[in-house]
Amino acid sequence: MTENLDPFEIAVKQLNRAAKIMNLDKQALALLSEPQRILQVRIPVRMDDGSTQVFTGFRVRYNNARGPTKGGIRFHPQETLSTVKALSAWMTWKTAVTDLPYGGSKGGVICDTKKLSTGELERLSRGYIRAIADSIGPEIDVPAPDVYTTPQIMAWMMDEYENVVRHSAPGVITGKPLDLGGSLGRGDATAKGGMYVLREGARKIGLDMKKATVAVQGFGNAGQFAHKLVTEHFPGSKVVAISDTKGGIYSENGIDYEKLLEHKKKTGTVQGFPGSKNITNEDLLELKVDVLIPAAIENQLTGANASKVKAKVILELANGPTTPDADEIFFKNKVLVLPDFLANSGGVTVSYFEWVQNVGGYYWTQEEVYEKLDKKMTQAANDVLAMADKYKVDPRMGAYIISVKRVADAMKSRGWY
Ligand code: NAD
Repeated sequence: MTENLDPFEIAVKQLNRAAKIMNLDKQALALLSEPQRILQVRIPVRMDDGSTQVFTGFRVRYNNARGPTKGGIRFHPQETLSTVKALSAWMTWKTAVTDLPYGGSKGGVICDTKKLSTGELERLSRGYIRAIADSIGPEIDVPAPDVYTTPQIMAWMMDEYENVVRHSAPGVITGKPLDLGGSLGRGDATAKGGMYVLREGARKIGLDMKKATVAVQGFGNAGQFAHKLVTEHFPGSKVVAISDTKGGIYSENGIDYEKLLEHKKKTGTVQGFPGSKNITNEDLLELKVDVLIPAAIENQLTGANASKVKAKVILELANGPTTPDADEIFFKNKVLVLPDFLANSGGVTVSYFEWVQNVGGYYWTQEEVYEKLDKKMTQAANDVLAMADKYKVDPRMGAYIISVKRVADAMKSRGWY
């Protein structure tokens, strides 16, 4: 069973599978099987009561053959080095599949943000950046927000980095607030990028999105924007089901985005929305819909429920919602899975746009951002679908093959093997 492996073991397993299919050079595989650099730091933070608490943080640079590395910072109570390593590997493949001039990295601090005051959170954020300052920079390694880190935290981190290096350096970090050089279009970038990928996937299997029914699991940043954007991008389509941690709702006539947002604000859940019936999260995954969008957490589609999924297309906005066992079933049943590191790469792509604007000191309109995002995502989606066809594998493997080949080619050109 791959389901119980630790995250980095899963990442290596996936890499090995791609390497075998594409007959990757052994030296290249050895280089790609471990991060290039692992930094572990201890961060003393003065707490509000006058005591000092020491936190542990990580920054892992997986591979920089294609350019400065890019990857978010997670503030999580259960953070582990294995998770950060795995996520840094996945960032390497994610930046390569969209052909961004970046490598991959990731960072994390073991902490529970809910137990920190604003002042403590600021001091921890600044302390973490001071501790890793000599290994980040606009041309070295560029962090971004991730689980429990926010634009405000990015602003403190940028400010602290500039204090250390004594010059302006907005390109050291992305996901900043607009007044500090953030990019327009960053808020809904992940779901927006997903819509372009979905459009290409639907075209490939001849699904008319204007008549499509859609179910979305999760009602956070990714899920909410997915709900909003599906009907904007594909007029005539309907979001018939959506869920949050408490459960889901179903309405065959479609669920209005604005009204549901209002309802969730008032009641704290999507359940009980007038005109819909309550369903469970498990029911939602097995509904008779054309498109299923997992946008919540990992391991939702497994060997146990994959054969009951009736959707024709799965757009993975969440990271890791499908286990390897489920992947096999979907491939056999001809369910088109648009894999996470392609489907949700709109976020990192607009982060890249933010960095380009910071480095160039010249800022784009929202329309320019969306137009450039559309081009990048459309190209990436079609590259992946074509590669999957060429090797007769599922799109996840197609995406792996493209990314691993791009990184391996860059290493080869540099003379690393
Ligand atoms: P979020 O915290 O804003 O929202 C998560 C949502 O999932 C919430 O509505 C929560 O209620 C729901 N949820 C949690 N457990 C659930 C369960 N068991 N069943 C159903 N719903 C459940 O997070 P987000 O930013 O929307 O991220 C969601 C997923 O998308 C994650 O896997 C994340 O890694 C991935 N992702 C997000 C972005 C982004 O830009 N936000 C980018 C790339 C990937």
